[in-house]
Amino acid sequence: MTPRQAQPRIAVIGLGSTGSFTVRHLAALGAYVVGYEQYGRGHDHGAYAGDTRLFRLLYGEGADYTELLIRARELWLEFQAEQDAKLFSDVGLLTIGPSESAWMGEMEAAARRAELPIEVIDRATVRRRYPLLAALGDGDYAIFDPLAGLVRTNEAVLHAINSAERWGAEIHDWARVQAIEETGREVRVWSNDSCLAFDRAVVCTGPWSGELVTSATRPVAIDYTLHAVRSIEHTAGVFPPAMLMTGATGSEMVCSTQPMSDSRFVKYFSTSSRYPEDGCPARTADGISARDHRLDLAAMHRIAADIDRRLPSVFPQPVRGYRFYDSYTRDHQPVLGWLPGSERLLVLDGLSGHGFKLAPVYGEMIARLAVGAPVKIPDSFDPRRFTPAQTQTRAERPSVRDDDRLRRDKRDGAAGLQRRSS
Ligand SMILES: Cc1cc2nc3c(=O)[nH]c(=O)nc-3n(C[C@H](O)[C@H](O)[C@H](O)COP(=O)(O)OP(=O)(O)OC[C@H]3O[C@@H](n4cnc5c(N)ncnc54)[C@H](O)[C@@H]3O)c2cc1C
Repeated sequence: MTPRQAQPRIAVIGLGSTGSFTVRHLAALGAYVVGYEQYGRGHDHGAYAGDTRLFRLLYGEGADYTELLIRARELWLEFQAEQDAKLFSDVGLLTIGPSESAWMGEMEAAARRAELPIEVIDRATVRRRYPLLAALGDGDYAIFDPLAGLVRTNEAVLHAINSAERWGAEIHDWARVQAIEETGREVRVWSNDSCLAFDRAVVCTGPWSGELVTSATRPVAIDYTLHAVRSIEHTAGVFPPAMLMTGATGSEMVCSTQPMSDSRFVKYFSTSSRYPEDGCPARTADGISARDHRLDLAAMHRIAADIDRRLPSVFPQPVRGYRFYDSYTRDHQPVLGWLPGSERLLVLDGLSGHGFKLAPVYGEMIARLAVGAPVKIPDSFDPRRFTPAQTQTRAERPSVRDDDRLRRDKRDGAAGLQRRSS
């Protein structure tokens, strides 16, 4: 193996869903890698927060995904075996939608092309199997994906960072990056009161990405999803363990349910667009860190009413409710690759509400790209697709605004360190 000193020095900024796997893959490839995370490992502010996410192989989001999802499942199973921790559970997933839904048709077609073991179930059979789904619409049917399941998010991120460290990565926790400067020879990364130089940097800051990497056309927006948690006890055998409902048009999920990893509560997800009156209070990245993720009473009432309308008699009153944020692109495809106009900065962003399941694959792809190893990346992920001429980086030395931020972050960073040690 090439000595570590001869390997490229790479910074990974943001150790959330994708950054944690990127830093792990880079370390395993033998790179000299430093990971920066503004909070502690596996914290509860990121797009992955809330304990679990759905993993599904049934995808209507594009033909490129099936191969990636198969690889992602392999990587999840390998990772949990290596970590000796229960990070993935294959409870299966029932996807329900109207027969006229193009998304349902796409999913079924993609599954058949890849010869995935799916079961297509008519409405009467769904209702017989799961009596609590009696309110299905006339034209609804379901597809069962037995290889689908749940991933334990906070725990997986924590394991990925810890394992990167065991591979030799240097991890800077509670280290918010304030600025990145790309020169002809290197990339300088400013964090707290230090500045380190690297050959390359990978930016994986998810909902916060607008702070370090911006685009005049704003391909990446901030959105949020609400979820409520209800007690699970009376649903066993009469309601699917995990379920996703879609509407007649578009590729948007209407709602989904899944058990929390303690198996005592079931989680109900719906996107903010379903609650327009709730607004989106954190349109700025700073707002994400500042806001409490817990929902107020009014939002909880709206969710309770929504659940009763969609899934009547399924759950008793919600127990808890949260909002979490993700970054979205206009085409709902990620941005993965070299930042246009840059030779040293890579970006992995815009996972658009469906990226956690693929985090190990995305991490593997960008790590290989960063070290110059062969890798196949779908064209649909190319960052240049959004008016490349206008894409910019905040790659200058801290400006007046950044200096202000530096002072504020030094103060916040100190508070963060105190919090961590308390
Ligand atoms: C409620 C909800 C439900 C979802 N359901 C599913 C699902 O069922 N299945 C699925 O596959 N996907 C799902 N998703 C999508 C998925 O969770 C996200 O796409 C994915 O987690 C995004 O990962 P990320 O790495 O881009 O962002 P994050 O995981 O948020 O990581 C960004 C990291 O960067 C850090 N950071 C930011 N700025 C800085 C800085 N300046 N310096 C240092 N660190 C910084 C942050 O603290 C954070 O740790 C859901 C998303 C939400 C919000």
